Amino acid sequence: MEVNKNAKYIIAVGALLLLSRKLLGSFGGGGRLRVPNDSYWYFVKPPQIMRNDSEGKGHWGAPRNNGKPHKGVDLLANKGEAVYAPFDCVVNRTLLVYDWSNKWIGWEVKSIENPNIRVKFFYCVLDKGKVGQTFKRGDKLGVMQGINEQYSPAMYNHLHVELWENNVNKDITPYLNLQTPTPQ
Ligand SMILES: [Zn+2]
Repeated sequence: MEVNKNAKYIIAVGALLLLSRKLLGSFGGGGRLRVPNDSYWYFVKPPQIMRNDSEGKGHWGAPRNNGKPHKGVDLLANKGEAVYAPFDCVVNRTLLVYDWSNKWIGWEVKSIENPNIRVKFFYCVLDKGKVGQTFKRGDKLGVMQGINEQYSPAMYNHLHVELWENNVNKDITPYLNLQTPTPQ
């Protein structure tokens, strides 16, 4: 009888622990994004909206002044907003977005599950990270810069994200669960 009581107590405590873990996991805190329960990649707080302004369009392959097609997707995000780890990853290296300026920062992360997958972020300062540090999906990675300061107020601030798989640039769009861009 005594054993039975203890067993019930242990089960009850276990259930409570599991429940609180689940709640903490989904609601986060401490700089974690409340990641929806799906396999899409969230770099900024959803809804993720693609940039489309008078200075340029944000889709993969969009034309750019340098004559090369756009290698990533631009996601609307304001200066100072958080940028999150899209999947469990390790910081691979830091990048300068432009060779003519050391102001505009980029990072590259590598998937822990599949090291052939690399993602580059542009216009994001990685505040607590450094090369070699690992992050869980939904962890805060860094903070947005305001790239329109470099160009024009007509440009909407954005995070540029690009996918490399086996060293080949791929369209990242299918992973983004993009919401229809707001008409501008
Ligand atoms: Zn871009």
